[in-house]
Amino acid sequence: MNKLKKTPWLIFSFFILVVIGLIVSCRPPAEKYDLVIRNGLVVDGSGNPWFRADIGIRGQRIAAVKDHLSSDRAATVIEAEGLVVAPGFIDIHTHADRDLLDIPGCENYISQGVTTLVGGNCGGHELPLAELFREIEKKGIACNFASLAGHNTIRRQVMGMKMENPTAEELDRMKELLRQEMAAGALGLSTGLAYLPGTYSTTEELVELASVVGQTGGFYASHIRNQGQRITEAIEEAITVGEKNGIPVQISHIKLAAEEVWNQLERITAPVEAARHRGVEVTLDQYPYTATSSGFTSSLPQEVFEGGREKFLERLQNPEIYNRVKQAVIRNRLTSSRGIDKLETIYIASSRKFPEYEGRNLKQILELQGKAANVDNGAELIIDLVKEGDVSAIFFQMDEKDVEALMKLPYVMIGSDGGLQVAGQGSPHPRSYGTFTRVLGEYVRERKIITLEEAIRKMTSFPAQTMRLKNRGLIREGYFADLTIFKAAEIKDTATFAQPHQYSRGIVQVLVNGQVVLERGRFTGQRPGVIIHGPGFRQK
Ligand SMILES: [Zn+2]
Repeated sequence: MNKLKKTPWLIFSFFILVVIGLIVSCRPPAEKYDLVIRNGLVVDGSGNPWFRADIGIRGQRIAAVKDHLSSDRAATVIEAEGLVVAPGFIDIHTHADRDLLDIPGCENYISQGVTTLVGGNCGGHELPLAELFREIEKKGIACNFASLAGHNTIRRQVMGMKMENPTAEELDRMKELLRQEMAAGALGLSTGLAYLPGTYSTTEELVELASVVGQTGGFYASHIRNQGQRITEAIEEAITVGEKNGIPVQISHIKLAAEEVWNQLERITAPVEAARHRGVEVTLDQYPYTATSSGFTSSLPQEVFEGGREKFLERLQNPEIYNRVKQAVIRNRLTSSRGIDKLETIYIASSRKFPEYEGRNLKQILELQGKAANVDNGAELIIDLVKEGDVSAIFFQMDEKDVEALMKLPYVMIGSDGGLQVAGQGSPHPRSYGTFTRVLGEYVRERKIITLEEAIRKMTSFPAQTMRLKNRGLIREGYFADLTIFKAAEIKDTATFAQPHQYSRGIVQVLVNGQVVLERGRFTGQRPGVIIHGPGFRQK
């Protein structure tokens, strides 16, 4: 009898305990934010003037942007008095790709405030993307990564180095491969029409292939066919590909890259603005240097590469062909309309076969070889280098006035066109180390070409909008906490063509998805980066 009476009491007591437990567990935790950035000058990425605010971060995201979070408790506080707090920079144009697996710390990008890298540019990507993404996720990376799918990669896979139009069947296979890459999470299609084998393709082929992107969503990015005398028609070709498929067009690393077209900005602005007026979404990116970097193959007649490397070497045995190639190199690379000594303006960035040439210009190399520094010998040297393959060079071929004029255009954003670098290896273009800090130090602070807010917009919300990245590129509640904190008065690139392996000055703190990856100039070793998938992504 006694036992029976006790039972309801026991149940009641238990119920009370559960209720108390629930109340305790639902109480706000003592630490409201994982991290608070206090008193910074917030340049939020929109282009609006800076404002003073505190930023509260919880997990991967920005949880609050308020005047004062001082009464709130945070696990960690970053004092940002006098510092600019901006969204992490988004680099729409890199060649990071597979190198992420060897250089997962992304140091040369993190150190200039970049938190998201986009690869797969200029027509080349890692096929299949799903596999690269899987490997990257397994490895862990410091910055976020997204990729385009490249036309050259896809074409080579299906057609090899054939210099002809694809058959209906070949085109179908190319489209199928692109569909596969879009489903793996590619952001869109890229072309490199100055490179092999893209140079063998027609506009019709590109329009047809890009129709896949028209169906899945995404954008078309193009290293256009010509950046000199025929730049206008090359831009128009890119616009056609986008316009016929109803997709945005991104013209990569825009430049007037021949003396004959220097200071003729209308060759770019006219076709772009006409298209934008028609309702075609055309945008561009640039890097803040007067030198380009690539291999030499685009200076040779493209047909000598048909069928691949063996055939190319075989053809060069023929003196008549050799001479034709040599004349083309002289015409395309070594002739100046302004009396500029081209041998002095071309530097070897990297060469596996001739590491002793790295960092030297063609004139210096010829002198080293005991040869006369003339265009004939220069052309022969270039052919020798191309024969060895795997050579990249730096070409001073732009005018500073054009770099500045392009930067002032509201529809031109910043992109490095660089890659991941191992400190001390080769003599790469300094853009891989200093693109973003150079814009902020040299073009914003020193030369006052654009405002700080406009520069940040070109590095954050603008590329995010172009690529339709969700919740990145702005400082807003709910957005991912990719943030760059820097001293506006000190920010500066220090990488030069002579000494490229130099980290920038003035970047104080960099956060990726809420975690600190750079702290007072030191890499923390954290790898909070994620893969950002495009609109066609299907989870497997
Ligand atoms: Zn390119």
